[in-house]
Amino acid sequence: MKTIDMADELRRELMVQRKGNRIALVPTMGCLHAGHLSLIELAKQLADTVVVSIYVNPLQFGANEDLAAYPRPFADDKRLCRQTGVDILFHPHDLYPDGGPRVTLHVAELDRVLCGAARPGHFDGVATVVSILFNLVQPDVAVFGDKDWQQLAIIRRMVSDLAMPVAIIGAPTVREPDGLAVSSRNRYLKKKERQQAVGLYRALEAMRHAATDGKKSTKALLKVGHASLKKDGIEPEYLEIRDAETLQAATVGRPARAFVAAHIGAARLIDNMPLDGLE
Ligand code: AMP
Repeated sequence: MKTIDMADELRRELMVQRKGNRIALVPTMGCLHAGHLSLIELAKQLADTVVVSIYVNPLQFGANEDLAAYPRPFADDKRLCRQTGVDILFHPHDLYPDGGPRVTLHVAELDRVLCGAARPGHFDGVATVVSILFNLVQPDVAVFGDKDWQQLAIIRRMVSDLAMPVAIIGAPTVREPDGLAVSSRNRYLKKKERQQAVGLYRALEAMRHAATDGKKSTKALLKVGHASLKKDGIEPEYLEIRDAETLQAATVGRPARAFVAAHIGAARLIDNMPLDGLE
């Protein structure tokens, strides 16, 4: 495995690797866990050369968020990448060397709802850094987790609207044995909070089951979800059902998903789940 921290060197190395090879990119902020590793495994199946980027992107953190505290265990991450068969680990010190980009990307509408409502500018930061990484790596395929569904939907829209020549693949959410979605932020949870956090998964599961069992109005399903959260003592930042692609109001006959976010202790956690057709 090659570890590279300069953009020029990355371009030179990829020129050598590209000849007839498919290249996959897995963008991350490091602190790698089983969720990230599943994306890398999928990327290996889809391409000959797998590039993993680790960059804690300041542009996607709000003023009161955990940028400085975000965990950066680079030596562990590097070891995990090597063990998992990553070909190139790209770990830039700074992707905005001239004091921040003058050009940023804004994916309208999809960024206003769900997490975007509480985190203004967050998805502009995500879209901007992902487009820079796409320009540097020029991957044939890029893999993102379903866990951050809004991010995935926004990136799909960016790629489609700007005709970026890259296939976007979503990978299923990796969960702890009790159902909690694996996340770098779970390490902020104290023991009691960790027990409570599984309530997010429980609420989504309750909604999914209710949908399958025939309770199919948005209102009825949200009632089921809110009751489950309340039982676990969780006050959500939001619990919503939305169209899986546009993230606007869910409509009959189109794929829908349930989305939840909550602050538990020092962690802000999110999760989502597909729902069978609404009525
Ligand atoms: P992050 O390092 O949090 O920016 O995440 C990097 C990538 O890993 C994103 O595409 C996330 O959606 C994905 N990811 C994070 N947690 C999980 C998980 N539990 N299962 C699958 N993918 C995940």
